[in-house]
Amino acid sequence: MSVMDIFETMEYGPAPEASSPALTWIKERQPFGLFINNQWVRPVSGQYLESVNPATGKSLAQVASGNSADIDAAVTAARRAFETWSQLTGHTRARYLYALARQIQKHARLLAVLESLDNGKSIRETRDLDIPLVARHFYYHAGWAQLMASELPGYQPVGVVGQIIPWNFPLLMLAWKIAPALAMGNTIVLKPARYTSLTALKFAEIVQEIGLPPGVVNIVTGEASRVGEALVRHPDVNKIAFTGSTDVGRSIRRATAGSSKKLSLELGGKSPFVVFDDADLDSVVEGVVDAIWFNQGQVCCAGSRLLIQENIEQLLIRKLQARMEKLRLGDPLDKAVDMGAIVSPVQLREIQRLVEQGVAEGAQKWQPSWACPTEGSFFPPTLFTHVSPASSIAQVEIFGPVVVAMSFRTPEEAVALANNTRYGLAASVWSDNINLALDIAPKIKAGSVWINCTNMFDASSGFGGYRESGFGREGGKEGLYEYVRPAWKTETVRPTAETILIAKDSTTEEEDEVSASDGTRFALPAIDRTPKLFIGGRQVRPDSGYSRDVYDVHGHRIGEVGEGNRKDIRNAVEAAHAARSWSAGTTHNRAQILYYIAENLASREDEFTRRIVQQTNRTYDDAFDEVQVTLSRLFSYAAWADKFEGIVHRPPMRGVVLAMPEPMGVIGVACPEPYPLLGFVSLVAPAIAMGNTVIVVPSHQSPLSATDCYQVFETSDLPSGVVNIVTGERDVLSQVLAEHDDVDAIWYFGSAEGSKHVEFASAGNMKRTWVSNGHERDWLDAVQGEGQEFLREATQMKNIWVPYGE
Ligand code: NAD
Ligand code: MN
Repeated sequence: MSVMDIFETMEYGPAPEASSPALTWIKERQPFGLFINNQWVRPVSGQYLESVNPATGKSLAQVASGNSADIDAAVTAARRAFETWSQLTGHTRARYLYALARQIQKHARLLAVLESLDNGKSIRETRDLDIPLVARHFYYHAGWAQLMASELPGYQPVGVVGQIIPWNFPLLMLAWKIAPALAMGNTIVLKPARYTSLTALKFAEIVQEIGLPPGVVNIVTGEASRVGEALVRHPDVNKIAFTGSTDVGRSIRRATAGSSKKLSLELGGKSPFVVFDDADLDSVVEGVVDAIWFNQGQVCCAGSRLLIQENIEQLLIRKLQARMEKLRLGDPLDKAVDMGAIVSPVQLREIQRLVEQGVAEGAQKWQPSWACPTEGSFFPPTLFTHVSPASSIAQVEIFGPVVVAMSFRTPEEAVALANNTRYGLAASVWSDNINLALDIAPKIKAGSVWINCTNMFDASSGFGGYRESGFGREGGKEGLYEYVRPAWKTETVRPTAETILIAKDSTTEEEDEVSASDGTRFALPAIDRTPKLFIGGRQVRPDSGYSRDVYDVHGHRIGEVGEGNRKDIRNAVEAAHAARSWSAGTTHNRAQILYYIAENLASREDEFTRRIVQQTNRTYDDAFDEVQVTLSRLFSYAAWADKFEGIVHRPPMRGVVLAMPEPMGVIGVACPEPYPLLGFVSLVAPAIAMGNTVIVVPSHQSPLSATDCYQVFETSDLPSGVVNIVTGERDVLSQVLAEHDDVDAIWYFGSAEGSKHVEFASAGNMKRTWVSNGHERDWLDAVQGEGQEFLREATQMKNIWVPYGE
């Protein structure tokens, strides 16, 4: 036997990390209480849940089973703590965050072992990835606490935040949630996942050790139905941050509808891993290992759909199978193991069920020849070929070590296949042609795109989804906005004026003069008696064939507009989709068109002023002001169109991350009542400046200023379908928009009740919502009526990772 043979045949010896310090730590504390107000308390129920080691199936610890009474106590503690915590200087909070980071590093080994024991993931991953990233998040956000006053002027913390996390990266998800919330001055009630609470409880000890003020961080363990739901519904919680499955995210969206709670959702995925024929295939193979077998595939952004250019498909599959034969699966504490255990028997059965379904649907399953351990919950790395793109294994998130391979011929086909999913969390693109890779990255609808790499994370770079993968970002400066609100919103805000109930006096004919509230009378602008909608660049008759009367505040009929319905909204959505090439044009061009719109509006400023007077009976001067602010607002967004540009991040790797704001897509907009022209333009201008196309429902009571804009748009080179206007019953039309699966976001400025309906209905395709909750903003004021808040709502961040070096 030669040395070579020995190397080929020799088995690895076991190299286990010692578990005894972690087991002793558990034993000394069992059963674990709840962490409320910096104290360990017994759960009100007196009940405990078992936490199991997935690699052995044996009991590891007893953790408290909280309920709504415990949540109530924790929220009360957090509310009290908020009074002082939010008032500390950024520097003081930075010191606490820094202390947390330091202490996490000191306890790194214990945390890594605990995580492996509790979750089943390999010690190599917890030690080299999870825990270092946890520390990094606290360091990074200590910096944002320090800089908050200067870098986020005009913003305040949200208040008490409820945070709900999954079991796949227990401590890392805790860090992603807690670090930014603390940095921005919020206090926290966090619910760990049922299967994996132990590292969160160790973190609670660290909170005590560093002397974080009582009540700032509270940790309540227990079951979803008792703890999770109580937290979501608690009236004194100001924000919910959730990471987990899309189904639960959808139920949380519905449960919080109309509550004024801020919401961020990081949900599931079925991320494409796209391989072009010029990619370095050996790197690709290692990439696939990291994409789908990392953490046993229990990764929300796992590259679970392997899309291969047809001419290299066979070659890559063979290379991959050879690599799979060499993967090592076993005791998670063994330092030489690639894959550990699946988190629970329930999850294991779900993976088995989906794999059987894949076989039944006719796909070809391949697994390595070696056998899994029989004790504990293990599942081998699995590759499916001959997969039909519509089959369930190609569409459903398996959340296990299962990859499905499909092929494409051209880059266009690759993009179409990549986007053939309801999700949009992440994507990998592999090619040695940087031009091709950077062309594909913006075309894939996903929050993170990794070029020639995969599953890269850093605190500096935002992470979060498009489409049904949720909304909101964690990490980077963009992630901070999830935990703040503009200061003016925390002051008492005026409720929206109810739509003024008009005594409709059908006998009153239109007057030929307008009377302003100061008694001045003016000649009326000519009334266009043809009731029309503006869809696809054309003035079209409403489907209903009906029109609705428009009255002034005294109940005088001053004109009519088209009575839009569901069908008109659907046509408008179609037109808005057909105009999506708007986003591909240059930002210079979009700016130019906004300037033209301003120019054409300015040349008719008298007419627009009179129209406002006619509808609102305000004074001419007052209405003239509204027109002037409107012109200024158009200039603002013409200015922003080529200046809201994104950032280049420098995470700790050789490379850069390009954080690019991309348009949401098609936005439904329901305009506020009070300023018929300014309210309309304040929403439409930022949306189209950022490359969106819109369907607008104008002010319910005063729609004529918006319909007067048809001609302005027609003469301003605005491409057909970029702005579509449907007049009619505003709340009914908003509902149709909120329910529509091809609308990507909805903005609603109206009543509290209407806001609730919009948020509830948005859960269908998890579109992003921006609602006023029945609060009015001062549209004349530049702080409230324009600026980056609008631009952020009009965009979603894509982070494109571009490593360099050979
Ligand atoms: P899950 O949605 O069942 O549970 C997540 C958390 O929510 C748990 O703490 C659970 O107890 C709690 N919960 C469940 N139902 C609830 C309810 N009705 N109200 C309040 N809380 C409730 O998901 P899971 O099985 O723990 O995790 C797997 C899922 O998480 C996968 O679908 C995966 O894609 C997703 N995930 C997403 C990300 C991301 O960043 N986007 C990260 C990790 C995991
Ligand atoms: Mn009148």
